[in-house]
Amino acid sequence: MSAPLVVVSGPSGVGKSTVVQQVLALAPEVWLSVSATTRKPRPGEVDGEHYFFVSDEAFDRLIKDDQLLEWAPFAGNRYGTPRGAVQEHRDAGIPVILEIELEGARQMRKAAKDARLVFLAPPSWEILEARLRGRGTESDESVHSRLAAAAVEMAAQGEFDDVVINTDVRLAAESLVAFLHDIR
Ligand code: ADP
Ligand code: 5GP
Repeated sequence: MSAPLVVVSGPSGVGKSTVVQQVLALAPEVWLSVSATTRKPRPGEVDGEHYFFVSDEAFDRLIKDDQLLEWAPFAGNRYGTPRGAVQEHRDAGIPVILEIELEGARQMRKAAKDARLVFLAPPSWEILEARLRGRGTESDESVHSRLAAAAVEMAAQGEFDDVVINTDVRLAAESLVAFLHDIR
């Protein structure tokens, strides 16, 4: 039996990274998958730790060689989950968490039938926008494109196995830890 696989999705700025970091603090045995992306690193991001930062050509090769469990374009870049590492950890009994956008989450339904898909939702649209702007990492153009994507993502909540509202980081993380421990 493979260890649980929990896929966390939700609009940019809802708090996915923050909540997932809290999950790892509460449950250090959980492994967070490291995605490949064509996006440039933000200040402080480390290659191989936050993402594998790759060229367009290298990303093409990952797709061609079937090395990605899922992948999708997002806000002008491509992001994908390396297949091998996820399976190796699950086979070793280590619960795995993925933090990915909507198209990728949809692909995971087919790519891993036993995955649990969780939508992290903001308490309100206003709070989502405030969090995205408040993070201070995005240009005005990027905020707009992420909010446009967010509207589409918010409409897809019903496709997920669970919806967790990120009002309080710790409470949201505790819900995810329960799923990673296969508590239904
Ligand atoms: P995402 O990974 O979904 O794009 P982040 O984790 O970067 O989102 O969070 C966006 C911003 O919202 C950050 O500044 C973060 O500190 C803040 N944030 C996240 N969760 C909460 C919360 N429950 N309450 C208040 N602020 C939050
Ligand atoms: P960011 O640029 O803010 O790090 O990420 C942008 C979006 O890409 C976020 O919604 C994030 O969850 C998503 N993302 C990160 N890694 C992956 C991945 O491997 N696959 C997919 N489909 N989306 C990802």
